[in-house]
Amino acid sequence: MNFADSEIVASLLKKEGHEVVADIEVADFILINTCAIRDNAEQRIRKRLRELRALQQRHPQLRIGILGCMAERLQNQLMVEEENVSFVVGPDAYRRLPQMLEQVRQAGVKAAETELSTTETYADIEPVRLGSNGISAYISIMRGCQNYCAYCVVPYTRGRERSRDPETIVAEAKGLFEQGYKEVTLLGQNVNSYRWQAGEERVNFPELMRRVAQISPLLRVRFATSHPKDLSDELLEVMASYDNICKCIHLPVQSGSDRMLKLMNRHYDSAWYLDRIAAIRRYMPECSITTDVIAGFCTETEDDHQMTLDMFRKVRYDYAYMFKFSMRPNTYAEKHLQDDVPEAEKTRRLEEIIALQGQIALENNRREVGRVYEVLVEGESHRSKMQLFGRNSQNKVLVFDRHEVQPGQYVRVRVTDCTAATLIGELVEEN
Ligand code: SAH
Ligand code: SF4
Repeated sequence: MNFADSEIVASLLKKEGHEVVADIEVADFILINTCAIRDNAEQRIRKRLRELRALQQRHPQLRIGILGCMAERLQNQLMVEEENVSFVVGPDAYRRLPQMLEQVRQAGVKAAETELSTTETYADIEPVRLGSNGISAYISIMRGCQNYCAYCVVPYTRGRERSRDPETIVAEAKGLFEQGYKEVTLLGQNVNSYRWQAGEERVNFPELMRRVAQISPLLRVRFATSHPKDLSDELLEVMASYDNICKCIHLPVQSGSDRMLKLMNRHYDSAWYLDRIAAIRRYMPECSITTDVIAGFCTETEDDHQMTLDMFRKVRYDYAYMFKFSMRPNTYAEKHLQDDVPEAEKTRRLEEIIALQGQIALENNRREVGRVYEVLVEGESHRSKMQLFGRNSQNKVLVFDRHEVQPGQYVRVRVTDCTAATLIGELVEEN
């Protein structure tokens, strides 16, 4: 989301004559887009700010601004705590940025804009693609979240949920395809609750997916993230009926314990979650499934933790983002619960989940050996210029010898070997 937001910011500033520079030494402004989801995300930003002090001493004109969720959460306080920050801008206030930069530069004052909006979607802004490979791009389709999971700061930093006009989304995807892009990822905190209504027209997420998928069979479509509580059969049906909708679903489980899920305010239990997994497999047996999980949420017992491990064994995820619980200000958890799982215990539980998931991912990958996949080539492999890497529909990375192939092409690759993270393969001759 932040990556997509930075591209919107770059576009808003470009219109006012600013440009992105590759060399930090020549920058007049440094804008840092921030995440507030866990405390360590914020600590990294504070460390970066300390590192930038030397640069600021060499260039007294340089001004630093903080964008995103940390700006929203801390507002003016952030400029008090971090003296080298000149302005803070929340996620719904980016249109004010050009004016703020002028203020900060000319009057030398500090400035903060952190008002949240119920309508802002930046629908009319065509993002400037930053550091793009020219092959895949993000498209933000909705903003905000009002699910209020007990541990989560997002509803407070990104405001109410709102959906973007589908015409502008389809136009953006079409534009990208015409420029040569081959893959778009539709982004939202909970894409299943995408909903647009204007007069008679009603568009839900499955319908939006259908419209984007119809642009061209050569344009792959992905999305993130869907909330298990409203993963509908209608969406699965649409996914199954278009080859270019990628067969990969990120479905954050958070915990395998019903007591934890209730306390987390997730609005589903383990039986519901497993029913949704079964539905995915029914519609798309080849679909990969990935997740997010939190170890050591308030009051989590060893039994609860074991249920999470069980959930991982049952679902056999292809990939997981695994986190230790971090208490966030203003959340339900902070107001009503105790962060009572000791740090060392959180670490142990997290490590157990990581070890189990590593083993499952490797076993899943071993089953891929011998299969042939269509791969969208993204670039040179990090290890060798003689090899390329790309992804299959399931979002798994495949590495193979390059031959005459170029990034941006679709090729067929047979899997010959694997690690827990990567499939290794060889090009299949077309005849
Ligand atoms: N909207 C998405 C996730 C956004 S945050 C969704 O609901 O699926 C990404 C992940 O960060 C969450 O899925 C959760 O696993 C993790 N997370 C959120 N708040 C956290 C916290 N306070 N401590 C640890 N992990 C957290
Ligand atoms: Fe946070 Fe829950 Fe919203 Fe995801 S759905 S952003 S975890 S409140």
